[in-house]
Amino acid sequence: MKAAVVNEFNQELEIKEVPIPELAYGEILVKIKACGVCHTDLHAAHGDWPVKPTLPLIPGHEGVGIIEKVAEGVTSLKVGDRVGIPWLYSACGECEYCLTGRETLCPDQLNAGYSVNGSYAEYCKAPAKYVVKVPEGQDFAEVSPIFCAGVTTYKALKISGAKPGDWVAIYGIGGLGHVALQYAKAMGFNVIAVDIQDDKLELAKELGADITINGMKADPIEDIKKKVGGVQAAISVAVTKKAFEQAYSSVKRGGTLVVVGLPNDVLPIPIFDTVLNGITVKGSIVGTRKDLMEALEFAKQGKVKTNIETKPLKEINEIFQRMEKGQINGRVVLTLE
Ligand code: NAD
Ligand code: ZN
Ligand code: ZN
Repeated sequence: MKAAVVNEFNQELEIKEVPIPELAYGEILVKIKACGVCHTDLHAAHGDWPVKPTLPLIPGHEGVGIIEKVAEGVTSLKVGDRVGIPWLYSACGECEYCLTGRETLCPDQLNAGYSVNGSYAEYCKAPAKYVVKVPEGQDFAEVSPIFCAGVTTYKALKISGAKPGDWVAIYGIGGLGHVALQYAKAMGFNVIAVDIQDDKLELAKELGADITINGMKADPIEDIKKKVGGVQAAISVAVTKKAFEQAYSSVKRGGTLVVVGLPNDVLPIPIFDTVLNGITVKGSIVGTRKDLMEALEFAKQGKVKTNIETKPLKEINEIFQRMEKGQINGRVVLTLE
């Protein structure tokens, strides 16, 4: 099968023929139809994070397609079913986190396109228990980003503590941010979208943001304080420290900063302000299978629409270059025959 492979960090991915994965007990083989390109894949290819993937690696954790084969022990799915393979590739099912509905914190989890091969390929295998069905009638390319960008931001908003009627700020209107703001609206929040590029903010307006702020042209902290007195929750899905600092400072007393973007950096937090203002800072990592099913339902009902650009697998290196320069509005989705 054809796949895009990271052979070495910071080198171009190689498009090459590799063997179709062999199934083990309980696994399924998916003929991949589409896979969104998440900024995490770029971090993986660069070896940006303290825990690095083992190379060679096939990235991709928004892969969706049709089951072509099922191994022994698979009872919940059959050949022909439409599924997606998310970042949470598998978890142990037995630890305190798995047992308490917090499987994304499982210390023994595997991650698609990071600790195991992902979906930048014609086929990807996965344990049947951890894939999630694509709702009927949903287009593969359009639904693909829900498997990471969608579920991640939906979950971040869910744990933010914001309630309908509250103001929420989304920092970074990229692949994650452009769906984050739609989930936020659908959940009944008032939304402020912050980015450093006008085209991203135009998209945010079209998708329903109540207020947009260009962080290069105005000070988002002052602007937010002036317009709404601070937000109940700020979700930072940008890849720069500055955005996190600004997001922290735009939260009002008793509010929450949800940390989602993953620049390899530190976020210095003022102790005095955090204590006196009762600020909560929370990390949020993707979402459970149940969160993903809920996130997919929003998309199925048309409450959340992905803004996608489809491209062939062979263009992955150009796509990564554009992503690094911030030249993607929404999500690029690789489509495979
Ligand atoms: P992206 O490149 O599509 O979007 C990033 C956006 O941030 C761009 O629109 C960019 O213009 C904007 N930005 C840059 N600097 C900014 C600033 N100072 N203020 C406001 N906006 C700014 O990336 P993505 O695919 O949306 O991923 C974003 C980050 O989220 C990555 O670090 C990725 O690894 C991480 N991520 C985390 C999780 C999780 O579970 N926590 C899941 C998926 C992705
Ligand atoms: Zn992702
Ligand atoms: Zn576990």
